[in-house]
This record gives sequence, C-alpha cells and structure tokens, in this order.
Amino acid sequence: MSVLFFDSHCHLHDARIYTDIPNIIDRAEKAGVSAMVSCATMEENFARTAELACTHGAVIPCFGIHPWFVDSLSENWQQNLETFLTAPGSGIGETGLDFMDKRADRDLQIRVFSHHLNLARELERPINIHIRKAWDTFIRLLKKNGPLKTPGLIHSYSGSADMVPLFEKYNLYISFSGSVTRPRAQKVVKALGAVSRDRFLLETDTPDIYPSILEPGKNKLNEPKNLPIIAQIAAKRVDMGFEEFVNHAYNNSLTLFETILS
Ligand SMILES: [Zn+2]
Repeated sequence: MSVLFFDSHCHLHDARIYTDIPNIIDRAEKAGVSAMVSCATMEENFARTAELACTHGAVIPCFGIHPWFVDSLSENWQQNLETFLTAPGSGIGETGLDFMDKRADRDLQIRVFSHHLNLARELERPINIHIRKAWDTFIRLLKKNGPLKTPGLIHSYSGSADMVPLFEKYNLYISFSGSVTRPRAQKVVKALGAVSRDRFLLETDTPDIYPSILEPGKNKLNEPKNLPIIAQIAAKRVDMGFEEFVNHAYNNSLTLFETILS
C-alpha cells in the first residue's frame, strides 16, 4: 500500500507499553505509520518522552500537563516545561480541560491550560489539546485570546458537529481516534463529517481507546499500528474513498506540525 499514516496523538511513555517500544515502533512503521506524536502528561514523564524522540526518528515529542494531573505540579513546573520545550522539534501538550469528574479543580485546570496556550503563542509551537465536558469554558478562553497563532488540535474530538466551524476559525484541527469505530458513534461520525477536508486528523491515543472492531478479549492495549484500521472505518462512515481520506489526514498533520518537523 502506498499511503502513509500520521498518528497525531499517542503516549509512548506509558508504563503499560514502554518496555515494548522498539517492537511497537517497528510494527507501526511496517503498517505505514511514519510519524507518531507522543504527548507527555506530567513532569514525571517529560524525560522519557524526550528520550523516545531522541532514539526514534518517527517520534515527535510534546510536553504538557494533562488536566487529570494538575495536582501533581511541582513548584518549578513552568520552568521545567520550558526547559523541555527549548529543544527545537517539540510541541505543547497534552493539556486542556476535563470537567467529567465533578471533584476536579476547575480553576486550577483553567490556570494551567491558559499557561500552555500562552506558551504556544510565545514559542510558536503547535498545541495538543484535551477537552471533555468543558466546551463552554474552552470557547470562552478561545474568544478571550483570539485565534491561535500557530495551529493546534483537539484530540479525540467528542464535541458536537455544530462547534466545528468555530474551532476551525480559531485555527484548530480536529483529531479523531478509535472512538469513531464504536458501534454507537453517531455523534463523533457527524462531527467528522462536519470538519473541512483540510482540518481533520487521525490518532490512536495509544495505549488507550482500543478500536472496537478488533477482536475482543485479545490484548486491549492500543498501539499506533492500529491507525490504518481506524482510518478504514472512519473513511467508510463519512463516505470518502480510503486513499483520499488517508492522504488528507496525513497532509493535514504535516501542515499542523510543520514548524517542529525536522
Ligand atoms: Zn491522550
């Protein structure tokens, strides 16, 4: 097959898969996945993410604090984050807002996420964003700051199709994961159908969001080699030819990450 795939959001540092990384990357490359954006989620895994990118040419690192882990911040977290971002070739994230858990410290999440948005603007880096059940707050932040100077992406999009044009206007790309393979994925499929052809992306969110089409009961840890399966189902669900769909997603990732690709 001549098409190539670009995994726009995964976590190769994750302890559940880390020891198997050389094999995972080998399997990904054999499946045509030529680039993987691996996002750190807290200070503790910054070094491992940097090391992965140094060792494997296909890995593009992003550094950020995931909204689930804002209570893990050290006193020097801002400096720590900037230190890892000084190396060229790195993006920002995973960062964002997640209000799913009612006990989440929303104010702290907003402060931490705003800092990442400012850094993205200042350093002109792409930003990898996680939003769950926090769409109003996210839109308020976007409107306050104006369109992103360097584009970003909303990963594993779970918002409505209606909001897509607004996010595109603010210079965001919309990324779709294995959640599009679920039997009851109508909302996600509708959103994918609403995204402009030059704005959608594909991701695995490895090791999570295992595509539901694969055999149940087998290894439930996701890996980038599963991206072609996700692409196949996604293309079919929006009635687009497979090659055309995949080429669009691939070229969109190249454009989004252009400034940090060597
Ligand atoms: Zn993630």
